Amino acid sequence: MALEVSVDADKCMGSGNCSFWAPGAFDLNDDGVAEVVDLDAVPEEKILLAAQGCPTQAITVTRDGQRLAP
Ligand code: SF4
Repeated sequence: MALEVSVDADKCMGSGNCSFWAPGAFDLNDDGVAEVVDLDAVPEEKILLAAQGCPTQAITVTRDGQRLAP
């Protein structure tokens, strides 16, 4: 099962941590809000690190209905 990843735009403060930990998977849009770009760009561990490292816990990661992060 693939990871399901979402960014809560209301919680994102545009710190850029996620695109640092998982470059290519996340990027900031023109509004300075993170978006999921390509989850295959990095290993899953990096996605989880990015979600865990988000200062506002804006990134939710689930697999098969089970929450993995934050
Ligand atoms: S780490 Fe969190 S707050 Fe920072 S840009 Fe990514 S989603 Fe937004």
